Amino acid sequence: MAYSDKHKIILQTILHEGALNEDRGKLLINDLFEHNNVALVINAINAKLQHLNMAIKYINCEIDGKTYWILTNTVQDAIKGLYIGCSKAELDLLRNIYSTIASSSEGYVSSTWCLNLCSSLKVKLSKDNAQLFLNDMVEKKWLSWKNGRYYIGVRSIAELLQYFKDTHEDNLRTCTLCKQILFYGKKCKRCDAITHTYCLNTYKENETNLGCPNCHNTSAVNCSDNSSTSDMETEPYK
Ligand SMILES: [Zn+2]
Ligand SMILES: [Zn+2]
Repeated sequence: MAYSDKHKIILQTILHEGALNEDRGKLLINDLFEHNNVALVINAINAKLQHLNMAIKYINCEIDGKTYWILTNTVQDAIKGLYIGCSKAELDLLRNIYSTIASSSEGYVSSTWCLNLCSSLKVKLSKDNAQLFLNDMVEKKWLSWKNGRYYIGVRSIAELLQYFKDTHEDNLRTCTLCKQILFYGKKCKRCDAITHTYCLNTYKENETNLGCPNCHNTSAVNCSDNSSTSDMETEPYK
């Protein structure tokens, strides 16, 4: 399919939003092209972007489990590091948040912790400005926010994996099922295996009574988000 102005609109929407929710992307494709062949459209855009070493990737959010379309560099290098266009103080705050999440076993930091951090930064940042900055980071999907906690956002997973590998190689964990790097997931109480919530849901949909994907303990099978009695719980667990 030839690249057209309609493809350009899709690309501009992805750029504008930072990460475009797949459901909305599909609606947009339907409106513009009057069909729902996502791969056909995205492949045409990616062919156009190839010489720039860029591509649209489908990335799952660890928190809401939804798929997002994100424009990424196909060549991620260490030198690029953490550059997302913010002030020195903001970058310092963000680097601290990333670092704490990547090296924690919980996979998140609390909002209060983030704001308290402001006073100990090398370049001072007021709490009000920090809050505005954090809201913006959530809006652009660099971070995810849920119930007073910040998690690694889907866009960071798409674009900053090399940064995390370079800075936190020893702490990074991988999902039991998809083997990709994971920051937040569900942990089995018996064997400590950790799995993306969305991977676990797909796994449970396809088979029944499989239990933990690693140790296959079937008493750990009931691992829904709200279950506190199961052996497989959302971190942290006691
Ligand atoms: Zn996974
Ligand atoms: Zn297990």
